[in-house]
Amino acid sequence: MSDTGSKPGPEPSERTAIGITFGNSNSSIAYVVDDKAEVIANEDGDRQIPTILSYVDGDEYYGQQAKNFLVRNPKNTVAYFRDFLGKEFKSIDPTHNHASAHPEEAGETVSFTVQDKAGEEEGPSTLNVSEVATRYLRRLVGSASDYLGKKVTSAVVTVPTDFTDKQKAALVAAAAAADLEILQLISEPVAAVLAYDGRPEGKIEDKVIVVADLGGTRSDVAVVASRGGMYTVLATVHDYEFAGVALDKVLIDHFAKEFLKKNSSAKDPRENARSLAKLRLESESTKRALSLGNNASFSVESLSDGIDFASTINRLRYETIARTVFEGINRLVESAVKKAGLDVLDIDEVILSGGTSHTPRIATNLGYLFPQTTKILAPSTEVTALNPSEAEARGAALQASLIQDYEAEDINQSTHAAVTTVPHVGNAIGVISVNEAGEEVFVPIIPPETAVPARRTVHVSAPSGGDVLVKVVEGNTHIKVTQPEPKVKAPESKAAKVEDADEDGDDDSDFSDDDDEEEDEEEKREKVWKIGATLAEAGVKGVKKNGKVEVSITVGSDLSVIVTAREVGGKGGVRGTLAA
Ligand code: ATP
Repeated sequence: MSDTGSKPGPEPSERTAIGITFGNSNSSIAYVVDDKAEVIANEDGDRQIPTILSYVDGDEYYGQQAKNFLVRNPKNTVAYFRDFLGKEFKSIDPTHNHASAHPEEAGETVSFTVQDKAGEEEGPSTLNVSEVATRYLRRLVGSASDYLGKKVTSAVVTVPTDFTDKQKAALVAAAAAADLEILQLISEPVAAVLAYDGRPEGKIEDKVIVVADLGGTRSDVAVVASRGGMYTVLATVHDYEFAGVALDKVLIDHFAKEFLKKNSSAKDPRENARSLAKLRLESESTKRALSLGNNASFSVESLSDGIDFASTINRLRYETIARTVFEGINRLVESAVKKAGLDVLDIDEVILSGGTSHTPRIATNLGYLFPQTTKILAPSTEVTALNPSEAEARGAALQASLIQDYEAEDINQSTHAAVTTVPHVGNAIGVISVNEAGEEVFVPIIPPETAVPARRTVHVSAPSGGDVLVKVVEGNTHIKVTQPEPKVKAPESKAAKVEDADEDGDDDSDFSDDDDEEEDEEEKREKVWKIGATLAEAGVKGVKKNGKVEVSITVGSDLSVIVTAREVGGKGGVRGTLAA
């Protein structure tokens, strides 16, 4: 293999850069044209390109063509290898490789043995996982180059948030061996957020986003704070149980049982490798069809003992038999929010990304988990949602188009913070103001989870003017729970009211006018600010009546705080520094 570390990349002016998602199950390639990211179809017309290579008579197939060979040529087909990059054999989980080439121990790495050359006299080759990745990336880049009509030189590639430095280094080296310069590796959830924020109509606003990246072999959920265009990953959870293949398995078992019921003397198709491969492929396509329609068909020629099998399933039945997986996904999302120390009320948006996110029931269930104010960005719940299978590739392409004009060294130095976990403030910092009811309220200036260093400025009104005291405090949110108003039958007496309240107001038949809403009224949970520790007090003297005081807060990277306060349009001002 070539010495990748020292090989200089192309000059910025000579680059053609794309975005790549390199998944365990599927990969995608995307490119930016006229500020819009487009996912490129390969020569087979696929935008989700299975991450699979297959060798037949010395010819190499990739993508969907290679996937189809899982039935007839599983031994020479390499699938589910991405997660093995940079790993030792003893730390990998080979569960998904039993129906294709098996991973083997190869010193510090993992390898596969396949017959990749033509002719009987040629023995099989043992390819380590880096070589497999290089060959696959070469094909991906070849498809992108053919489509664009020019050689693709560089890419921003997405990786899971738990990819170790060793795995990243292995990926960069594998790409370099395929003559591909990796401009940057960005985490998959951040790529999904970039895809949304980078749309021509996208707005960069302060928000907390949950990205549920639900793929084939793994589900990764990340909680990301977006503050002034900086993204901070607050928490991540990873799961290998509740993902696409678990849904395939549900359908495999369902149809296998149905087949056996109809053909009681036939062999169980799950016990024969070839029958199982057929079952698996068809179950996956039935599953995909169920994301679009209410019914889907299932049909396999010669499933077992030469018997053809055809059936149908409706979505309701599917959702019932797959309930455990759907519930697992909800729990996973819930646990990520908890791990970030947040409540579901803190979440502004949930981005559903990854192929499994097409499933309507998953989006509906997440809708129940979050308050109505949280946007669930999935095709079945939001018309403006991006295709979940394409979001991350688009985000990577947008990032590539942003940074491709910089020297490689500058990219390394300047772009890390925006896409990795960076220091951030825990509590909000703001000032105390007085609301219409005369109560002191917290006005946030620097929202919680803002990456530091950060600087924000607000104008506080001073209606009565004079000497204005600005109190800079920490603020944190807590969830205020209001129980529903107890329903009362009739205003007979105060005592009666109290009794009714205790009985939970079940009998509401007297209130037929407007009690539809009241009937299923639940306790109200809302996020309210609580004033925390005082950080600084600043007096601004002689402010004009109806004047305004400008308060600036700067939080340094060591979390020290500088506060300045001055009258807008006035002279002078007060400035103070607080240690971290
Ligand atoms: P991983 O790395 O977790 O293996 P990936 O990121 O490589 O996955 P994705 O394309 O995001 O791959 O997800 C693949 C999964 O999505 C497969 O299980 C596939 O069956 C499923 N999938 C694709 N399209 C749909 C659809 N329309 N409805 C339901 N599931 C789908």
